[in-house]
Amino acid sequence: MKVARFHAPGDIRVEDAPEPVAGPGELKIRVRNCSTCGTDAKIFKFGHHHIRPPRVMGHEIAGEVVDTGERVQVIAAIPCGVCEECSRGRFTVCPNQESMGYHYDGGFAEYMIVPAKVLAVNGVNPIPSGVGFAEASVAEPLACVLNGQSLVAVGAGDDVVIMGAGPIGCLHVRLARARGAARVFLVDVNAERLAMAAELVSPDAVIDSDPVEQVLKLTGGRGADVVITAAASGAAQEQAVRMAARQGRISFFGGLPKDDPIIRLDSNLVHYRELTIVGANGSSPAHNAEALRLIADGLVPVADLITHRLPLSQVLDGIDLVSRGAAIKVTIEP
Ligand SMILES: [Zn+2]
Ligand SMILES: [Zn+2]
Repeated sequence: MKVARFHAPGDIRVEDAPEPVAGPGELKIRVRNCSTCGTDAKIFKFGHHHIRPPRVMGHEIAGEVVDTGERVQVIAAIPCGVCEECSRGRFTVCPNQESMGYHYDGGFAEYMIVPAKVLAVNGVNPIPSGVGFAEASVAEPLACVLNGQSLVAVGAGDDVVIMGAGPIGCLHVRLARARGAARVFLVDVNAERLAMAAELVSPDAVIDSDPVEQVLKLTGGRGADVVITAAASGAAQEQAVRMAARQGRISFFGGLPKDDPIIRLDSNLVHYRELTIVGANGSSPAHNAEALRLIADGLVPVADLITHRLPLSQVLDGIDLVSRGAAIKVTIEP
């Protein structure tokens, strides 16, 4: 079968590999769609400390169980299920977390093995009827978005700012609407990408420069109830704090480059305005199941966000599209 394997930074190869065999307690999947995201582009450029090459990449996975033909979606982040955090239900911050496509071969392959650890935490979800494989593969990033918005409690009446108009930003706009946000503003420094995203998700306003001033203007000087940074940008995080309303909630959804994670924060803004700043780290198995339901119920449509469908042989083109910000969602069909 064909797989796309990471060998070293800048070196991903589409190559032949023997079809994998499921061991006891494992599941063999015929992968139908595995979507790409910014993380794949980052891995391609820099590698990742959890990836020991060669490794089949791909973590946004949907396919068929070979034995039964059941259509399933597979989680990416695998909590251990037994540590102190997991036993308290805090699966997203499990210190023993492993990931598909990092610790285990992922979905950029015709066939894939679901490890027993994934099955042990209910990490294989049946795809509801009416939801295609490509849409189901987007349940994983949507699950992460769901985790982020639950932590900052996006809800009815909120003015929400999303910083970053990539696929994650688009999912944030859609989910904020589904959760009853009053207005959603979308920010990106890349005016072209912002226009492409706005065309799809119709935010109440788009902002491509001076975001703090613009958000204050749009909110009559009050600021936004919720600000979510969906960009690997320290500047965006600093702006997010300055554009938040009193008692505003800020999600540092996107992480920063690990060699440059320090920002300047006016602590008095947090103090006097009673701001809440929250992180977000991936998603739990339950978030994945809920994301599939949101897609199936039409509350968060994702089909139109999939702008490119490519065969496995073109996975490098897909990653290139993602890193140039020239696509919303690119899905690979092995
Ligand atoms: Zn991803
Ligand atoms: Zn754990």
